[in-house]
Amino acid sequence: MNSEQMVIQTAGLSKQYKGVNALQGLNLQVAQHSIFGFLGPNGAGKSTAIKLLLGLIQPTGGRATLFGLDSVKDSVAIRQRVGYLAQDPRYYAHMTARETMRFAARFFYSGPKEAIEARIKETLELVGLQDKADRPIKGFSGGERQRLGIAQAQVNYPDLLILDEPAAALDPQGRRDVLAVMERLRKHTTIFYSTHILDDVQRVSDSVAILNHGQLIAQAPIEQLLAGGSGVAYSLTVCGDGQSAQQALLSEPWVTAVARQANHTETTLQINVTDEAAAETQLLRLVLADEATAVTAFGRKKYNLEEIFLQMVDGGIKQ
Ligand code: ADP
Repeated sequence: MNSEQMVIQTAGLSKQYKGVNALQGLNLQVAQHSIFGFLGPNGAGKSTAIKLLLGLIQPTGGRATLFGLDSVKDSVAIRQRVGYLAQDPRYYAHMTARETMRFAARFFYSGPKEAIEARIKETLELVGLQDKADRPIKGFSGGERQRLGIAQAQVNYPDLLILDEPAAALDPQGRRDVLAVMERLRKHTTIFYSTHILDDVQRVSDSVAILNHGQLIAQAPIEQLLAGGSGVAYSLTVCGDGQSAQQALLSEPWVTAVARQANHTETTLQINVTDEAAAETQLLRLVLADEATAVTAFGRKKYNLEEIFLQMVDGGIKQ
């Protein structure tokens, strides 16, 4: 995909607060019309990255471009093309959904009143709030508030929606509704959203980037991650703690990560590889080269993103 089709591109994007490396050398590519899940535990640096993209804070290193525009120099022009939902949107609780939408719509749009009203109606329908349009927000559930926030972000027909943890604080029903709205919006725009909930990205995203301690640890289309990262995963069970096998495997260039899970007298290793052929011929031989190691099970594995995520975040990944 060439760079014109990339809505977001960052190169070495970094942010250091006093003594804290909140974001370190982030390289992201977000393609047009994708739903891009930006996944990481709390404190990973997701909000920092989002604020940098929007030009709300300045990078201490690297750069970001949105639509080819520079996040620092062109932040005003960028914000006119981006709809943004902050992590904890605030509303005037006595105002209705429609009144709130008028507020957001008039910010950028100066067309005739009927056109604004039609746009608002259409957007409230898109997020499933048409029946609540004229009720005050104070009676809204968490999910309804988030959907209203998405409607506000979407009403100006942005080329990109940036949603910071849109579903994090919601109950299962609220989350499901918000994710369904995001799915519905995909034909209108590109969506970049952050989450610390794996299940969200498994349900709704085309591409995923995983951030931990300010560093990008994976970026790939979701199918690729679900199929085992940039390669394949193997599962190997050995007697004992498996430490020497883990060390031996990690020294191979085709091994990207080895996670260990002890279970009584045995340990299961999950091994991510980039080169399947090398793994097929060498993996078992390498482990068995240590005569003290007994292998009780070995298999190729398709695994889910949760396993990848936990593995990456808990360690066992090569830095
Ligand atoms: P996330 O959105 O993934 O939860 P954040 O981007 O909010 O992560 O935070 C990343 C790191 O940067 C954390 O260690 C956080 O404490 C730190 N941090 C965020 N904002 C500031 C700030 N204004 N001053 C100092 N440290 C900050």
